[in-house]
Amino acid sequence: MDFGLERGFQLWNPRYSTDSMECVPIRGIASSAFGEPHAMADPVKPSPVSAAGDALRKQLLQARSQSKDPAVAAVEDVPFNPPMPWFGIDIGGSLVKLVYFEPENVLPEDAACEVEQTKIIQRYLTSNKTYGDTGIRDAHLEMRGVPINHHIGTLHFIRFPSSAMEKFIHLAKSKGLSALTTTVCATGGGAFAYEKTLRQELNLELHKFDELDSLISGIHYIEYNHPEETFTFENPLDEGQCKRVPHSIRDLYPYLVVNVGSGVSILLVESRTKYRRVWGTSIGGGTFMGLCCLLTGCQTFEEGIELAAKGDHRNIDKLVRDIYGGDYSRFNLPGDTVASSFAQMMDPEKRKTARKEDLARAVLVTVTNNIGSIAMMCAMNNGVDKVVFMGNFLRVNAISMKQLAYAMDYWSKGQCKALFMEHEGYFGAVGCLLEYMNLGRINQNSSDAKPV
Ligand code: ADP
Repeated sequence: MDFGLERGFQLWNPRYSTDSMECVPIRGIASSAFGEPHAMADPVKPSPVSAAGDALRKQLLQARSQSKDPAVAAVEDVPFNPPMPWFGIDIGGSLVKLVYFEPENVLPEDAACEVEQTKIIQRYLTSNKTYGDTGIRDAHLEMRGVPINHHIGTLHFIRFPSSAMEKFIHLAKSKGLSALTTTVCATGGGAFAYEKTLRQELNLELHKFDELDSLISGIHYIEYNHPEETFTFENPLDEGQCKRVPHSIRDLYPYLVVNVGSGVSILLVESRTKYRRVWGTSIGGGTFMGLCCLLTGCQTFEEGIELAAKGDHRNIDKLVRDIYGGDYSRFNLPGDTVASSFAQMMDPEKRKTARKEDLARAVLVTVTNNIGSIAMMCAMNNGVDKVVFMGNFLRVNAISMKQLAYAMDYWSKGQCKALFMEHEGYFGAVGCLLEYMNLGRINQNSSDAKPV
């Protein structure tokens, strides 16, 4: 019988510790094959803000003069004021994330003769919560009074399925975006795939940035500007006692970032300007969606999560007690530990009677457990005690968040914390806009800017 122990954490139950398991370290996880530490411009400190910002300006200049990063230190305080409106767009495998910066004051030089058209677009974006059939503004995530470049303003967060990209282009055209000189910073694979179409249809020149650089910039910026951004759970699996509590990660390096999008990337963040990708897995949010749609006929992520909330994975998975008749005491494995995900479905009779809810829950548990166990191994391998999970897989998905929180705590005997961030999947979209504001200025002065 193979519980998959020698292959790591395929068999797991958060209720027993790593001590009781043979955990084979993933070879080469820290090797240079997975990338040397990555140097970045300082993504955190905002640019000086003309009205509000003498203190901010001083802080920025001081940070630059003290920075050991030549890219940061070399930046002169030259005005860099790309045309408004400003957008950051992250075109991912499942979702497009769009952030729009609405300035509190539009200066005459910001919009020149395009003021009226800019206002129309601003009004359309900020007064609606839905756009077309599938676009949604996450108004609860809106960030007011935040600085970008020379402005203070509001960041708006909008998303729509990547499959609706063509429709979005059509909609944006009908709203007159093609008539404007607009600053659009883009990241994610779609920034490359759609570049030509966006140029042809919307007259947009994309400023493209790497998605992981953007992610890290966005995390630092949002965490810096939104004090309660990061949180954890106390008593995560106890319905009555479970409590969400803020837990800042500001300047608390190193930590792991586990970005659960369609697939999963795991990054070791060593400082504000250094990170490297240590691992990844293709079993992520896209896997949950794909399998859930296939097995239950559900149409949306929300539907899949709702089904899962009513289901019981134990009717689908094979547990230790299904094999042993009870606990596997020698290795301290309780009977309700998952021994083999989905293994009950080998039985034709059980296949016939399997409920959609149970199938959805089993897919969710399988994907979550796999991500959790890989994250735990990466944390152990890199001696890290904070793991920050993010990405839209965790949107409206308290089941996975709580499961991850419980598991990390249990395995590490309280030494390693699972943390979560409120802006879930929007860090890349924010980050690419900031990367442009930072690196755009470097571009004006030197040819050292990072290639995209
Ligand atoms: P990507 O950049 O790969 O699209 P995201 O961080 O946006 O990554 O996460 C995508 C995942 O988020 C999906 O695979 C799915 O599991 C989940 N998700 C959450 N909300 C939705 C939604 N409304 N539509 C599609 N997927 C969603």
